[in-house]
Amino acid sequence: MTSHATEFRDVACTVCGCVCDDLRLRVEGRRVVPLSGVCELAAPWFERIGHTQPAAAAIAGGACSLDEAVTRAAAILAQSRAPLIWGLSRSSSDGQRAAVRLADRLGACIDTSASLCHAPSIMAIQQVGESTSSLGEIKNRADLVIFWGADPAVSHPRHFERYSLEPVGEFLPGGRSDRTVVVVDVEPTATSAAADHFIHVAPDRDFEMIWALRQLLREDDPPAHEFADTNNTGATNLGAPLDVLWDLAQRMKRCHYGVVFFGLGLARRSLGHRNVEALLSLVADLNAHTRFTARRLRIPGDVTGADSVVCWQTGFPFAVNLARGYPRYGPGEYTANELLERHEVDACVLVGSEAVANLSPAAADWLRQIPTIALDYPNVAPTVEADVQFTTAIYGVHAPGTAYRMDEVPIPLRQVVDTEYPTDAEVLGAMQRAMPIDPCGPPNAIQQA
Ligand code: SF4
Repeated sequence: MTSHATEFRDVACTVCGCVCDDLRLRVEGRRVVPLSGVCELAAPWFERIGHTQPAAAAIAGGACSLDEAVTRAAAILAQSRAPLIWGLSRSSSDGQRAAVRLADRLGACIDTSASLCHAPSIMAIQQVGESTSSLGEIKNRADLVIFWGADPAVSHPRHFERYSLEPVGEFLPGGRSDRTVVVVDVEPTATSAAADHFIHVAPDRDFEMIWALRQLLREDDPPAHEFADTNNTGATNLGAPLDVLWDLAQRMKRCHYGVVFFGLGLARRSLGHRNVEALLSLVADLNAHTRFTARRLRIPGDVTGADSVVCWQTGFPFAVNLARGYPRYGPGEYTANELLERHEVDACVLVGSEAVANLSPAAADWLRQIPTIALDYPNVAPTVEADVQFTTAIYGVHAPGTAYRMDEVPIPLRQVVDTEYPTDAEVLGAMQRAMPIDPCGPPNAIQQA
């Protein structure tokens, strides 16, 4: 270690929704050297910090002062009649609150990257409720762990180690040997290779398989045709044979504490919200027999915070329109992809532009044609050629903040590296203050504490 290096322990990582808070890092000037607790997803993300130092602000690709960029961004927004603020999942509570405040000032639509991710799950939870738990509770108690349509071995590399498979828990002194792990998916995955049982579900038959499990729990007979091989594929129409599902239903009933983690393999198939409603209903049924919970595997580090902050500020977690001076909720109507596809947006503020890669070609095409203002971290390559580009401090590295782990537990983020970059909260606040006062503008709906 050089004389200028400082070592930090118990640093939180916001690369994925696990928000592991046990990292050990060494900081050498602006550079970060991961020492321990950093998985293969996080290591390159941390190693890029300080590697390049993009300008804090740029207009049309040319570096400029922050004041010039803020003035230009405010001018774009002042001329806009239908602005959209989108992203927020790589931010922190302060940045998300500032984004809602700006949306309220503009009468804009505000949406999070969840609208292209777990939005169907959010809608399902709104319909049927959720039997929930913290990851700590799961670590200490869950002796049956099911992954449905998810591959955390790839998407959340330390999930097994910290929460779901390997740790010794208060009521699981044997760690992995005290847990039974089941994977349900359309094909074997890296996660199923670590599981005790893999159950094949035919593509787009998750709903029917979950309904068959609900019937088996009630000791009813599921429809016989679901367990025929009418397509001569060598598998049943559902994917798995009846005795395999019967065995799973019995394991679910018999366990002391069960959890099903589900991912986009369930939520983003056709009628994904119905799949998740069915799964949440199955979990509710199981609570007549034992303690059972369901948890989403959230991908970006603070997408759960984005939902939470937008919800506590507007009453709705995503797809919120503030044009009338009060919040209106409209998945499919006020979600970013659909607004852009229908050309119903004439300027866009991207609070983290990574999600642009998930837009449909038609939405991405319209985004290229309208003025855009992007706020990105210095270690993440912008995905759009924005009219105004800001580089902002990384929460948890350059600035303190709060990230919500995938189980909605808020994790404090610390500053470990000095920077001149402003936070996204500061940039969004400056843009709001630079806006001309419009006496005919919409009344502000959100009273922020
Ligand atoms: S599992 Fe996720 S939060 Fe944990 S170190 Fe890896 S990327 Fe970071």
